[in-house]
Amino acid sequence: MKILVTGGAGFIGSAVVRLAVARDHAVVNLDALTYAGSLENIANVADDPLYAFEQANIRDRAALDRIFAAHQPDAVMHLAAESHVDRSIDGPGGFIETNITGTYNMLESARSYWVARGKPEEFRFHHISTDEVYGSLGAEGMFTEDTPYDPRSPYSASKASSDHLVRAWHETYGLPVVLTNCSNNYGPFHFPEKLVPVVILNALAGKPIPVYGEGLNVRDWLYVEDHADALLLVLEKGALGRSYNIGGENEARNIDLVKTICGILDQKRPKDVPYADQIAFVQDRAGHDLRYAIDPSRIRDELGWRPSVTVEEGLERTVQWYLDNEDWWRALQNRDGVGQRLGSKG
Ligand code: NAD
Repeated sequence: MKILVTGGAGFIGSAVVRLAVARDHAVVNLDALTYAGSLENIANVADDPLYAFEQANIRDRAALDRIFAAHQPDAVMHLAAESHVDRSIDGPGGFIETNITGTYNMLESARSYWVARGKPEEFRFHHISTDEVYGSLGAEGMFTEDTPYDPRSPYSASKASSDHLVRAWHETYGLPVVLTNCSNNYGPFHFPEKLVPVVILNALAGKPIPVYGEGLNVRDWLYVEDHADALLLVLEKGALGRSYNIGGENEARNIDLVKTICGILDQKRPKDVPYADQIAFVQDRAGHDLRYAIDPSRIRDELGWRPSVTVEEGLERTVQWYLDNEDWWRALQNRDGVGQRLGSKG
């Protein structure tokens, strides 16, 4: 299968690209290389004959049409997005343009390509989204695919909008789509502005480890390579027009996750005082959703998917990866906004 992956130079997209090539799929990686993208993330496949790269922006419809015509993909996995909630609070415009208008461009470009080819039934447009579209849970309950959408940040609202567009293109034009909504990912190549790498890198640098509010927000953590595996499974076996929630059934309060990472560092890179002493509670994010939890019954029961690593194993691997890949993260720490408090303008 030849897959057009958008956002393949980002955190999750690069895991998808690496796994797809390892499984002998041809991959065309379409990425604008924004501040969040890095070709280092897919350096191990760069010379593979199965791999091609196209630097292009999903806001640019003409570029998308050219890429569809040039590469003739069998499927699309659409991950390109602005992805950082804090940046969406400071500057929502880019989220509207990339996540909503960019997805609209992808749908229209894919549709005209699909129509020109005689509407092949086996074509797939896989839209990758987030559990944040469902809003915030209290202490009880889990998100199912039938949970009403209730996004509360500019980021999640833009992703929710894009999900609605994808469903509309399926219902209205018959475009063969599948959708997935996943919980928080962590793992190698995670951009150093997101919680898990911030904790690891601030701990190593001897800096305060910032925890928003009282650290009581709960997220459901999934190792990125397990997410990539689930995404390829849904692409190949998912029912047409259907949505699948993907989660690791690993709920943790932020403060507990941070302490776990500190404990792993205490073992791997010991110093005289525990890393947890560096934890510093800071002003909370505006509109910070309290709790997300995914009910993954559908993908488990219908497609037989299960995560392969526990959160303890995944975090251990992740910390080790950051210890082993200092050149990668040091280069990214100079990028715009990294290391600054973002999202405080809400
Ligand atoms: P990321 O920010 O690490 O990567 C995004 C990639 O998209 C980058 O390579 C960037 O260069 C590219 N990109 C951004 N704007 C673009 C544009 N206009 N045109 C072309 N390329 C562009 O994001 P991520 O964490 O890998 O997330 C990927 C997808 O998965 C997103 O759609 C996100 O909403 C979704 N998602 C993320 C998580 C998570 O925990 N990170 C969880 C669930 C779903």
